[in-house]
Amino acid sequence: MATTDVSVAVVGGGAIGLCTAFELHEFGVRDVVVLEKRHVASASSGLAVGIIETQYLDPVPIAIRVYSMDFFGRLERDAGLPITRNGYLRLGHSGADMERYARSVEIQRALGVTDSMVLDRAGLQRVVPGMVCDDLLGALYGPSDGYVDPALTCTIIAGLLRDRGVVVEQETELTAAERTADGRWRLTTTRGERTADVVVNAAGAWATPVGDLLGAPATVIPQRHQALFARLPEPFGFVMPSVMDYVPDSGRMGLYFRHDSDRALVAGLHTEDLLKDVVDPDRYRRGGDDLQYMAAVGEALAERLPTFADAGLDGVWSGIYPIAPDGEPSIGPYRDHPGVMAAFGGGGSGFQSAPGIGRTVAEWIVHGAPRTVTGVRELLPDR
Ligand SMILES: Cc1cc2nc3c(=O)[nH]c(=O)nc-3n(C[C@H](O)[C@H](O)[C@H](O)COP(=O)(O)OP(=O)(O)OC[C@H]3O[C@@H](n4cnc5c(N)ncnc54)[C@H](O)[C@@H]3O)c2cc1C
Repeated sequence: MATTDVSVAVVGGGAIGLCTAFELHEFGVRDVVVLEKRHVASASSGLAVGIIETQYLDPVPIAIRVYSMDFFGRLERDAGLPITRNGYLRLGHSGADMERYARSVEIQRALGVTDSMVLDRAGLQRVVPGMVCDDLLGALYGPSDGYVDPALTCTIIAGLLRDRGVVVEQETELTAAERTADGRWRLTTTRGERTADVVVNAAGAWATPVGDLLGAPATVIPQRHQALFARLPEPFGFVMPSVMDYVPDSGRMGLYFRHDSDRALVAGLHTEDLLKDVVDPDRYRRGGDDLQYMAAVGEALAERLPTFADAGLDGVWSGIYPIAPDGEPSIGPYRDHPGVMAAFGGGGSGFQSAPGIGRTVAEWIVHGAPRTVTGVRELLPDR
């Protein structure tokens, strides 16, 4: 039986918190509040590159993203979210990569994604003319994947929430939490007190201190990541797909880039492993003056796309990947801490996963178990 007569406080007005609140309302929960210490999308979610795709390798991460793509598609149709469907390529270097990609296509097919495919080197070359492919065997390709403006997406979701009567309280920081005798939460915020039956920890890079307030441990390591623009004086003549030269679990940083305009790409270095640059989310360097980083991206880009050898690099910005020690998000209830839900650890792909994570958390609250993404129990916070 569904439990909709429950009051929920979601801590964090990033993509994951907003999607959780949205899904709760969809299920009929009417007493939902989002507490955001600054403003909507003020942290990682407003600084993401915005790539949305389903080209992952294992069933659970794929299923989370398949649900998420469907959600973004609904926002496109019903709320005017612009999605640039430029396609997404995950490059393959080895036979083992290509085998994993073939399996991903099968998993995606079973979940209704019919257009993803494995490309050989010649096929890859056709999709990205001029890309150096000598060291590659091919790629995993999702032609209808794309990218969005992540801050705009969050603003649209927050607007839909407000239209439906869900309170999104900005400039409201959770500062203390206490369990009352009747098993509810008394929450102290910078704007006063409120009560809730369930608190969702969707505090991104601050999930650890918020978990401490709730007495429910949350290990998230804030890792600083940068991205930049690479601009050419002349148009390159086609819509560049998003290209990811990183294979999950490879233990290295990989170049990625995506279309931004007919003469500019957004590019950066990605990893889902905890390699370096662990920072304090309240005191980290946001600016774009990292010449070493620009040189590393410029070099990798020129190797892969020789037309970009003389590209002008500018507009470097940085944000945080809220990443767990094992690189996986935490989603759902704790064994020993009733009334707390985990919704954190999105890492470097938490924006594209946010709708699936929010859906799963809402199902745990309303139905007592996940329904949409089967197998997601392996991401419980006590794992
Ligand atoms: C450069 C860069 C590029 C990226 N590109 C992509 C991409 O292309 N695709 C992708 O899927 N992901 C990408 N990511 C990762 C993505 O940004 C994150 O995984 C995702 O935004 C995490 O969302 P979140 O809601 O968990 O966290 P956040 O967006 O950080 O939200 C957490 C919120 O909690 C609030 N908060 C914290 N403590 C409290 C408190 N005590 N009380 C109230 N509120 C509190 C914070 O103010 C914050 O707004 C990128 C990240 C970076 C840095």
